[in-house]
Amino acid sequence: MTLDVYSVPLRTRFRGLDVRDGVLLRGAAGWGEFSPFWDYDADESVAWLRAAREAADEGWPDPVRTHVPVNVTVPAVDGPAAHRIVTSSGGCRTAKVKVAERGQTLAQEIERLEAVRDALGPGGAIRVDANGGWDVETAVARLRVLDRAAGGLEYAEQPVPTVEGLAAVRRGVDLPIAADESIRRAADPMAVVRARAADIAVLKVQPLGGVRACLALAEETGLPVVVSSALESSVGLAAGLALAAALPRLPYACGLATAQLLTADVTTAPLLPVDGQIEVRRVDVDPAALDAVRAPDDVHARWSARLAEVEARSTVGR
Ligand SMILES: [Mg+2]
Repeated sequence: MTLDVYSVPLRTRFRGLDVRDGVLLRGAAGWGEFSPFWDYDADESVAWLRAAREAADEGWPDPVRTHVPVNVTVPAVDGPAAHRIVTSSGGCRTAKVKVAERGQTLAQEIERLEAVRDALGPGGAIRVDANGGWDVETAVARLRVLDRAAGGLEYAEQPVPTVEGLAAVRRGVDLPIAADESIRRAADPMAVVRARAADIAVLKVQPLGGVRACLALAEETGLPVVVSSALESSVGLAAGLALAAALPRLPYACGLATAQLLTADVTTAPLLPVDGQIEVRRVDVDPAALDAVRAPDDVHARWSARLAEVEARSTVGR
């Protein structure tokens, strides 16, 4: 069987990546995406494969909403670029701004947040994501400053790497705390709840093993959920949308507007926001669009080997 592997350059370097790549799987229910980041090993990637198989073979639970409000994602860029990203975001009223980027100063973060506030206006919501890049002391000090620079933050996502650290930051600032890496890369996602370390759970479908697995986790944590992407093509994003659409309550905009970060997609109808929302629907791969972004032979070979390795593990674990 031939394997469909895509490889697409990003508009701006993000999460240390310049290119996003992954496998597209076709099953009875439609298309699924298997695209663990390269720093995920085979064991960790089993959940990603489960999510892809759910999409391709089973499909997803019925939606309870037709549209999902989404945030624009602002990478660690300068003020003018941040302003441009927000104003060309398809009407997003919420922005997620990357902070704690290695090598950047507080002044650069303040400039970025002020630009985002200027672009959004007073009614918009701004959240920051530090990807665990601070220690507790730095996080508490910085968040107070950034909260002011942003004209009020909606919440702070993963300011520090550990669950205990999150709990300490949460006690130290007057701001809701969202847990992302502490849930998605943890052996025990419920540790966050027991430690009272977060007000919000960020859930990503692929690393957490599928839409149903995420719905179960949302119920178990009892925390409000923000569904975020793993920077997938629109095929992978459709799974995130399905989760956001099936959650009983959805109080925050979701991080699913990331097709904007890719220079191309595998469909002629990418999942992009209109008036700050994305319509809930499935995505079919367009053959010509896929041909235009097909991975080169060496990348194809790497994915082929990786998929085989992860498939072997997921069978062993059954
Ligand atoms: Mg995050």
